[in-house]
Amino acid sequence: MNLILLGPPGAGKGTQAKFLVDKYKIPQISTGDILRHAVKERSELGLRAQAFMDAGALVPDDLVVSIIRDRLTWPDASAGFILDGFPRTVAQADALAVMLTASGKDIDHVLSIVVAEDELVERVVGRLTCKGCGRGYHRKFDPPKNDAVCDACSAELYQREDDREETMRSRLQAYAAQTAPLVEYYAAKGLLRTVNGIGSIQNIQASIVSVLEG
Ligand code: AMP
Repeated sequence: MNLILLGPPGAGKGTQAKFLVDKYKIPQISTGDILRHAVKERSELGLRAQAFMDAGALVPDDLVVSIIRDRLTWPDASAGFILDGFPRTVAQADALAVMLTASGKDIDHVLSIVVAEDELVERVVGRLTCKGCGRGYHRKFDPPKNDAVCDACSAELYQREDDREETMRSRLQAYAAQTAPLVEYYAAKGLLRTVNGIGSIQNIQASIVSVLEG
């Protein structure tokens, strides 16, 4: 199964992607994770991407398209994949379509996770991430047992630079201007499946499964 997860920052794409990885045994391909790793490693890609990411802006299309072009050739993606955070512009979606056609593949579903803007800001601004194992927490909805360290590995927790409120507002603007048009784009192709992203994680998982298998 080849899936795209579409939704604004904070909609729960990453959380739902992890659930779908377990359920369908296909990899999550997150351009945000790949870029954050590149920034941490100070690779050439990371150095080019960092300023855009810190400002809450999108990284140029050619950089993310080449990440995906390479990643889709890995053997683990041959039986399917979950694209999380890609495509984010119509140009990226067009590039993806060309890539998939060339390798005889298709998108099966585009899951659009819908959450109101006020809720998104509260979710993202409260997020904490472990410096060691990358596990995510939330100050209000999923707090760590001990304020500043990870329950799993005891490493320090931090707030992602781009999860600060002001940067989050820029990310939402980038979403509205550049990514939201993809909802129409995929609806016109008959691939759009809309899921309400408010409620318990389990309820949202159940609606996703019924949309994919129903
Ligand atoms: P995410 O973790 O998906 O919210 O991505 C974090 C940041 O990485 C975004 O705010 C962008 O700066 C950058 N990024 C991730 N995916 C893309 C993409 N497909 N196109 C452009 N920039 C991206």
